[in-house]
Amino acid sequence: MIVLKDFFINFCILCTGIFLIHQYLYRDRVASMSLTRRRVLTGVLQGGFGVLIMQFGIHIEGGVLIDLRTIPMMIAAYLGGWASAVVATVIIIFCRLALYPISYSALINVVVLTLSAITFSLISHSNMKIERKWSFMAVSFITILGITIPFVIPDFRKAFIIFTQYAFAVICGTYGTYLLKSYLWRNDQDYARLKKFAQKDYLTGLDNIRSFNHAIDSAFLKAKEHQEELSLLYIDIDHFKQVNDTYGHPAGDKVLQKVGHILIQSCRSVDIVSRNGGEEFSIIMPACDSASARTIAERIRQSIEESVFVINKDVELKVTVSIGYTTLNQKNMVSIGQLIHQADEGLYRAKRTGRNRISSNHSLYRRGYQ
Ligand code: GH3
Ligand code: MG
Ligand code: MG
Repeated sequence: MIVLKDFFINFCILCTGIFLIHQYLYRDRVASMSLTRRRVLTGVLQGGFGVLIMQFGIHIEGGVLIDLRTIPMMIAAYLGGWASAVVATVIIIFCRLALYPISYSALINVVVLTLSAITFSLISHSNMKIERKWSFMAVSFITILGITIPFVIPDFRKAFIIFTQYAFAVICGTYGTYLLKSYLWRNDQDYARLKKFAQKDYLTGLDNIRSFNHAIDSAFLKAKEHQEELSLLYIDIDHFKQVNDTYGHPAGDKVLQKVGHILIQSCRSVDIVSRNGGEEFSIIMPACDSASARTIAERIRQSIEESVFVINKDVELKVTVSIGYTTLNQKNMVSIGQLIHQADEGLYRAKRTGRNRISSNHSLYRRGYQ
């Protein structure tokens, strides 16, 4: 009964630790670290976690104390390869020798942990499927245990009972860890996918209108705070309905994708290109004055006018765009809504005056439109 109670406590600590470390490792700040730093950090966290588990031993047959410290080592190897496994193992071995008396069995334990770390690293770098890796790690540890246990416990019967109990604890612990880890990974993937769906336009891969609203709010606040200029371009494909009507919707989709690509190619990495809906796009240009906005708008217009849109081997077409642009600066201190309205008015004017052209509408608010 005590064995089960101790195992249950160990397992609960294992689950809590796995969950907390997982949450920490997947935070944006950590996720953006260099690979080496992330591997070392993974090793340190799993090593520290192994040391914590060591404090809650499971009392088994004949007063022997076991624990699941090898499981954090498996996780370290699985997540960060040999580098994380080495860091975690060194921490566990060092603390084992520093915190407890050094005995013959302690030295055997060091051998077991070292052999396990090597095996876990080899398995983690193999091409096996996830489930197989976890199973092989558990089996390899149990094998190493089986080989080394007679060196500590010469009595065969006693060694067999201890080995059976230890193996059972490791199998249950590994399986539980695998289930929890798989669940957390699946959740992360689902979250990332849903986040992408919520923020990106499915057709062009550009930001969607929701992201645009968020981006223009922050760009506007930043521009005010740093007293920088902020330019905004509204771009609309001319007579796009005709493209759909003549060549079909899939052809229209190809045109939208290529226009999106040209827009990305035509601006700086700090600029934010969005598909605001249908055949309408926008570009938010932080720290960009009116003259530059005009130059970029003209460059985009020309570049699209000169591009050939290959739909299939028989159909190639040309399209043009109209662009409205405006700039938030000392001379044009307007609200976000007004800035968007100016860009939209500029676009409307470009359409009204013949399409395939660029136009600004700064005068709108200076005339007292508000
Ligand atoms: P204008 O020069 O005045 O902008 O004329 P237009 O034909 O481009 O504008 P209009 O608003 O009349 O038509 C826009 C068309 O865009 C109608 C709609 O079918 C098409 N559209 C909207 N979203 C998509 C899409 O995701 N794919 C495709 N292929 N077409 C789309
Ligand atoms: Mg249009
Ligand atoms: Mg339109």
